Amino acid sequence: MQTETTNLIKWQKKFNTETSCINHLIQLRWADGFICPKCNHNHGYYSSNRAHFECASCHKQTSVICGTIFHLSKVPLLKWFWAIFYISSDKGGISALRLSKLISVSWKTAFHMLRKIRKAMGDRDSIYDLSGIVELDDTYIGGKKPGKRGRGAQGKASVLVACENHDGYPGYIAMKVIGSVSKKEIELFTKQNIKPTATVRTDGYPANNGVQGNATLEKKVTPPEFVDEWLPWVHVAMANLKRFILGTFHGTSLVYIQEYLNEFCYRFNRRFWEDQIPLRLLTLCANHTKVSLA
Ligand SMILES: [Zn+2]
Repeated sequence: MQTETTNLIKWQKKFNTETSCINHLIQLRWADGFICPKCNHNHGYYSSNRAHFECASCHKQTSVICGTIFHLSKVPLLKWFWAIFYISSDKGGISALRLSKLISVSWKTAFHMLRKIRKAMGDRDSIYDLSGIVELDDTYIGGKKPGKRGRGAQGKASVLVACENHDGYPGYIAMKVIGSVSKKEIELFTKQNIKPTATVRTDGYPANNGVQGNATLEKKVTPPEFVDEWLPWVHVAMANLKRFILGTFHGTSLVYIQEYLNEFCYRFNRRFWEDQIPLRLLTLCANHTKVSLA
């Protein structure tokens, strides 16, 4: 779907007051007019002072942010909209510290906002299953000590990475933090992220047999110097991921790694429509259900 493109100047022009953001959110949520979430009645009275609708039938009051990722947030929408712009307009993303300074909120608030946005990104991409030829491999994120493959190395997160190989060009990617590389984890990842009709290319590691039964498996024991020929794009994706994590989130807690992976994949999967990402993400956040952080 074609989305409007944007950039800093356009965004600044479009979203420069709280009212402009509220009106845009109303447009995104109820483009064909307000519908009461309680009784489905299609008429309500809007109060601009309180940014809510009152249903003309059951009189339930519905805030414009109710049931979105902005649900119950005390942060003005203007700041949310700018957080969405910043996270989506640079492939390095944005740290909570930097965002907190740019939009004048506490670090903790910025951190929570980014976590909610990343959750929406992950949920959006989880709808898509990789197809065609798919490269699959695992890597480690975080930690300083070198770890052994297949075992949960200390301070490190094992990550499964899959990337479509479209006639020699990278397509969509998917990434998941796992406890350790095992047949069971690979089986689950394949089921959740890859179409059964896909052909999955892996190296000779035994756990990769987990692919079998869920997709066609093409296994090859590859000497290190040839691994980039057999699985080129999954390794490019891994190298980019490490740069992203190191560049913006060095020293990050492993607890949040999956959220960073969600963010990385979301932008990577839309790299050909970079100038559409901010408005696409805004639409996603407006239509996503409320997010409770664990
Ligand atoms: Zn109603």
